[in-house]
Amino acid sequence: MAILRTDPGAGARERLLVVGNGMASLRFLERLTERAPGRYDVTVVGAEPVAAYNRVLLSSLLGGEVDEAACAFRGLDWYEDHGIRLLTGAPVTGIDRASGLAIVGETHVLPFDKLVLAVGSTPIRLPKPGMDLPGVITFRDLADVAAIRKAAVEHARAVVIGGGLLGLEAAVGLARRGIDTTLLHVMDRLMERQLDHAAAGLVKRALEARGVGVMLKADTAAVEGGTRVERLRLADGTVLPADLVVVSVGVRPSVALAKAAGLATSRGIVVDDRMTTSDPRIFALGECAEHRGQIYGLVEPAYEQAETLSRHLSGEAASYQGTALATSLKVSGLPVFSAGVVDTPESAEAILLSDPGAGLYRKLLVEEGRLIGAVFVGDVAEQGWCKDLIRSGEPVAGHLDDLMFGRRAPRTLAA
Ligand SMILES: Cc1cc2nc3c(=O)[nH]c(=O)nc-3n(C[C@H](O)[C@H](O)[C@H](O)COP(=O)(O)OP(=O)(O)OC[C@H]3O[C@@H](n4cnc5c(N)ncnc54)[C@H](O)[C@@H]3O)c2cc1C
Repeated sequence: MAILRTDPGAGARERLLVVGNGMASLRFLERLTERAPGRYDVTVVGAEPVAAYNRVLLSSLLGGEVDEAACAFRGLDWYEDHGIRLLTGAPVTGIDRASGLAIVGETHVLPFDKLVLAVGSTPIRLPKPGMDLPGVITFRDLADVAAIRKAAVEHARAVVIGGGLLGLEAAVGLARRGIDTTLLHVMDRLMERQLDHAAAGLVKRALEARGVGVMLKADTAAVEGGTRVERLRLADGTVLPADLVVVSVGVRPSVALAKAAGLATSRGIVVDDRMTTSDPRIFALGECAEHRGQIYGLVEPAYEQAETLSRHLSGEAASYQGTALATSLKVSGLPVFSAGVVDTPESAEAILLSDPGAGLYRKLLVEEGRLIGAVFVGDVAEQGWCKDLIRSGEPVAGHLDDLMFGRRAPRTLAA
């Protein structure tokens, strides 16, 4: 094993190794170098061949709305200017905690005093026959987008499995490229964790209006083909011809490295309020981390965790308390927002505004005078305020009209 060079002028500085160069990793490095410039001898190692980029824009990249350059965050000069040694295309394959070494690939090791794991998640492949056929692709990184675009040639028929946020985005991206696209979802409504039936119905209509065929209660039994995918078979016997299958059925936190190193893991890498793992020299953040039993799959919590860890490693007091989640997206131009409770519990009052013809739906859920949930489609005014009120648990009795119709310009359904 060859030891990769660390900064010879580092002297007594602690060696901080960051594994993973995704969105959480970069935000952490940005905040750390602002707060404590030069305090550590920093190396970051990423498995992907490029430096951290904006993963959220991958759907726009797939749809051809932006190019790859628009997804970039920091150029290589930024890392250099901040004294950060960046290794790309370099997966860490093992961690030897006793000797403070990370194994990179098969032949190199990197010494560390402190280690940050920011290794994200791995897309789930359904445990069904044919999932490893060429043409069956997940949707997580730039390489996946390149593979989907390569397969999405003229007249190709695409099937997207999974009616969650990413599945919808993949389907819209493909349809925008002129590909005949069908979206399959095993549940009876799209995005069932974020939307109630009425809102999900509007989103389905919006997708169909953009040329995406939507099949609900569609249970994939197998993907079939000779040398590559040719068709997809549903459990009810329906057969869908397919030249390309995008699998978007969820992700699993990448815990293998931490587990093999003997760190405490559950669904994710278990961390405390300072993002510290069961080893006080090792930290985890982003989608790979499990905090108070919670795993997050969005950018906002990853950034809040990065903030906390950068404070902690700069010697400041810091404590991550968890993130109250909200979802905000545009389904092919149709704005959608959801936060808190989605389906109306018996104990809550639902305040509704619904105009399906106009593609408009707003629902507020109030329990004991407090907002516990909001689902908006078509008009997402006051989404930030709703999110804050759900978080704070402040009484909302005097604000309901403003929350429903917006603070500045009261509107009517007919307007
Ligand atoms: C298409 C798409 C659209 C999305 N849209 C939204 C959105 O609208 N809003 C939102 O909030 N979130 C969205 N997300 C989710 C968001 O991108 C993630 O929550 C965020 O990227 C998580 O950051 P992370 O750093 O934890 O993981 P990642 O960004 O996945 O970074 C982890 C990095 O670690 C690397 N790595 C893994 N193992 C190793 C190893 N052993 N050695 C070295 N490197 C390793 C990986 O290759 C990867 O580059 C979207 C995701 C996708 C895929």
